[in-house]
Amino acid sequence: MSDIPATLKLILDGNNLVSNWTALHKMSGGAQAGAAVKANAYGLGAPDVVRQLQDAGCRDFYVANWQEALEIEPLVEPETSVSVLNGVRDEDMEAATLSRAKPVLNSLQQIKRWSGTGQPCDLMINSGMHRLGIDPEDLSAIDMNSLSIDMAMSHLASADEDCAQNLKQLDVFSNAISNVPAKRFSLANSAGIALGQDYCFDCTRPGLSLYGGVPRQEMTSLIQQVVFPQAQILQTRKLKAGDKVGYNAQYAAQRDMSIAILGIGYADGYLRGFSNTGMFRSEGINLRVLGRVSMDLIAIDISDASQLGEGDWVDCDFDLVRASNQSGLSQYELLTGLGRRSARIWH
Ligand SMILES: *Cc1c(COP(=O)(O)O)cnc(C)c1O
Repeated sequence: MSDIPATLKLILDGNNLVSNWTALHKMSGGAQAGAAVKANAYGLGAPDVVRQLQDAGCRDFYVANWQEALEIEPLVEPETSVSVLNGVRDEDMEAATLSRAKPVLNSLQQIKRWSGTGQPCDLMINSGMHRLGIDPEDLSAIDMNSLSIDMAMSHLASADEDCAQNLKQLDVFSNAISNVPAKRFSLANSAGIALGQDYCFDCTRPGLSLYGGVPRQEMTSLIQQVVFPQAQILQTRKLKAGDKVGYNAQYAAQRDMSIAILGIGYADGYLRGFSNTGMFRSEGINLRVLGRVSMDLIAIDISDASQLGEGDWVDCDFDLVRASNQSGLSQYELLTGLGRRSARIWH
């Protein structure tokens, strides 16, 4: 790493992160809220997120693979649990048996692989998403005494919608666990928490909403924005009516105007869906994205903010619901794409 300041900043609000976890924990009723910190905590930086949420009282973290587990393991307290959602492969076994993290066993093969270790594990049950997990009808084939199961869980496919699949999955999961000797049971992700107490069991597993995502409208007032990107102006210029901007001339000036070129583009996770629709802001003034998003650059309209010049910073409108509507990207994609070239600055 060099000391050259980045042309892009992600301002991250730690108070809002903690306040989101606390709100989700309360909403989980009698259940304990954990935190999904896979994919580098959805792009925010897993070590920083784990530290802050653990201080707030979070005791269950979920990562995708063993690299991610090893990255946060040195930070977690002895009583804190780390679960590896993608399970355990042959090539993970050495690291996995030395680690304090537990695999979430997803298949009969993984169960066979782990049962000799005598170490704790979690168990994923397929309740209808048909992604990872053991089918309920295969549970009877498992020698439960060969496993020390901490958490038995399943995952909701459509909790962000009101649809029959939610109740169906709840029903399948509730029936399936009656013969599973786990210490704890867990079903709900962020959106699942809002489906009500029946979905919360002992532990909930929010991810998206910790980081400011709002998967269901009724969560709007509870969840605060955490990620605030800022980009720097690299150049300003004047356009005459008719001048075209960017690749393939996807914007043409209707009148004379002032524009600024920012050091942010699709290689920073600000994808082409924001072309002609994204929004930046400076002191309350809206600055619209003009033309196509380039790899490292975009143009914005600064006609109403002509005091802006080279070196100034502007705020990206990254309210996740709004940015998702602007770009056609999911709130998940918006978060996980960010940050490859940004300085991450926690407040
Ligand atoms: C990613 C994930 C979560 C978190 O889901 P969000 O929708 O981000 O709250 C919970 N459980 C499992 C199994 C996951 O893969």
